[in-house]
Amino acid sequence: MRHPLVMGNWKLNGSKTVVKELIAGLRNELSSVDGCGVAIAPPVMYLDQAKHALSGSQIVLGAQNVDVNLSGAFTGEVSADMLKDVGAQYIIIGHSERRTYHKESDELIAKKFALLKAAGLIPVLCIGETEAENEAGKTEEVCARQIDAVLKTQGAEAFNGVVIAYEPVWAIGTGKSATPAQAQAVHKFIRDHIAKENHAVAAQVILQYGGSVNDKNAAELFAQPDIDGALVGGASLKADAFAAIVKAA
Ligand code: 13P
Repeated sequence: MRHPLVMGNWKLNGSKTVVKELIAGLRNELSSVDGCGVAIAPPVMYLDQAKHALSGSQIVLGAQNVDVNLSGAFTGEVSADMLKDVGAQYIIIGHSERRTYHKESDELIAKKFALLKAAGLIPVLCIGETEAENEAGKTEEVCARQIDAVLKTQGAEAFNGVVIAYEPVWAIGTGKSATPAQAQAVHKFIRDHIAKENHAVAAQVILQYGGSVNDKNAAELFAQPDIDGALVGGASLKADAFAAIVKAA
């Protein structure tokens, strides 16, 4: 009953030429995709160009971040309404790179989650443990804490129609993906954690895996019962590799 979603997070990569060529490549490779949602999140600068380039395709526009403020004197920021205005639908929040480099807290990310929902946008809530936390056996504790920032303040129902991306920090950009069994165990933990509050909500929430997903390891990851697609970084910058991941889902 859950449709997988494969989303490309372009991070700080691209140019007008890249947007044009990569989207043309994706449209060519993914002219008919059934049963799998596909989204791309280019840098905010190129959202409008990307939206036009995606016109008439099944590929949906996403974004990589949103500000916690709605409008006003917040130099350099982009609001939920602006993202909606240019046609973005899936908005990544809480990516580990923002947690690390921009010191984003669980509480701030939970506020972003609420304001995206209020704006009618779909949060893609990123969670995941660092290598040190993993080695200390704290994976479940960290994931629970990051989810609880939303769950305990907004209720399980807040997870209706949203996406959670489990991205172990040690697997991001390292070429060292979690094994399918490792990822499945954490995904099951996440779903069970939400199910303790609301079974129906837990059953429908899309749980993406992210961290060194490529065209070689995608099929095995997607074969796991609680892995509903992927949030893809590096491999989303190549049309053929990203399309192969979508096809594996
Ligand atoms: P990589 O696929 O490059 O490891 O990045 C994953 C990621 O951070 C997606 O948000």
